[in-house]
Amino acid sequence: MLRGAVVSGLLASGAHVLDLGILPTPAEQYYVKERKLAGGVVVTASHNPPEWNGIKVVDGNGMEIPRETEETIEGLVESGAFAAPAWQDIGGTAAATDGPDLYMRGIAAKVDREAIAKRNPHVVVDPGNGAACVTTPFLLRDLGCRVTTLNAQPDGAFPGRKPEPTAENLEHLRTMVRALTADLGIAHDGDADRAAIIDERGDFVDGDRLLALLAGEVVRRTPGLVVTPVSSSSCVEDVVRAAGGRVEYTKVGAPLVARAIYGKGAVFGGEENGGMIFPEHLFARDGGMTAAKVVELLSRRGETFSSLLKSVPRYYLKKSSVPCPRDRREAVLARLKSLAADRKVDATDGVKVYGEGGWVLLRPSGTEAILRMYAEGKTPEQAEAMRALGEKLVREALAT
Ligand code: MG
Repeated sequence: MLRGAVVSGLLASGAHVLDLGILPTPAEQYYVKERKLAGGVVVTASHNPPEWNGIKVVDGNGMEIPRETEETIEGLVESGAFAAPAWQDIGGTAAATDGPDLYMRGIAAKVDREAIAKRNPHVVVDPGNGAACVTTPFLLRDLGCRVTTLNAQPDGAFPGRKPEPTAENLEHLRTMVRALTADLGIAHDGDADRAAIIDERGDFVDGDRLLALLAGEVVRRTPGLVVTPVSSSSCVEDVVRAAGGRVEYTKVGAPLVARAIYGKGAVFGGEENGGMIFPEHLFARDGGMTAAKVVELLSRRGETFSSLLKSVPRYYLKKSSVPCPRDRREAVLARLKSLAADRKVDATDGVKVYGEGGWVLLRPSGTEAILRMYAEGKTPEQAEAMRALGEKLVREALAT
């Protein structure tokens, strides 16, 4: 129904519509970029539960449009002020079936196929009945992996598991990797812009550590800038610096990371939720490219994935929240900044205060009257100390 409505709306505004069928979001974005289309629309709820749905809009560079442009579009929809073309200028539709192939060829040209084919790793792929069913298993097989699939029939009811690739939702994949003594498990969310990795022991790899590992590998080969949101673990900066690169932080939100990579000419970027951006391929989170790069890394090094991860420093994270009335939000954030003036503070998004062995980030929730608090430390004690510092600062800020 939504697909029909989107197509109809586009036609009514004079656009020509190419229907790509079921395709991962990054594959659609790549198609738009490579075929030099005006833009794209994806109907997907991404990682959300099956009863949800949504619409992602992509610009001519294959990037997700910024939040402000989305709001402009929503405003136009609400106002009903559409510019309708004359009847003879209404657009037409056509179907294209080369979306998966174009995307997979693009990825295959950017990874070390020889190293992968030589190692011939056994990978269990779990697309979660989502869009990656039409790409990742075929891509990895083509690159020289032995592939076993799980939940690999596209089904919008998502009968196999919940679409978000969290440790909890990937129980079957973890069991399967262990039972088959596979080298790796790879899972995606519903629209496959994210990838999650299970190591050969069946353990879920934290997104921060995966981000750090891939960032280090990119920077060692192509020295340069890595972009990530302020909420990312310091393990990313540690690894990137050790590899001779540097890190810049953005506000939280994948489209902002993608735009910063584009604008600053960064070599890599991503989020802790498994959304990795490889600008050589696409200025967008890219589950297929992430899968291929993980397999390439594993194959080049000739170690197990769990041993590769040992090079990434471990940090401890504490998430919590403190109540804060919505109308006092801005004042409290400004007060927090001045209360922490004797420390290193990053005000890119909310207020991030650095301390002994860690930091605490305070950001207003988009939906609730709370400040979300992320505290990180090199030890559990330091993480707790940073959490306590954050709470103390908020209480002081609220009291004044
Ligand atoms: Mg997604």
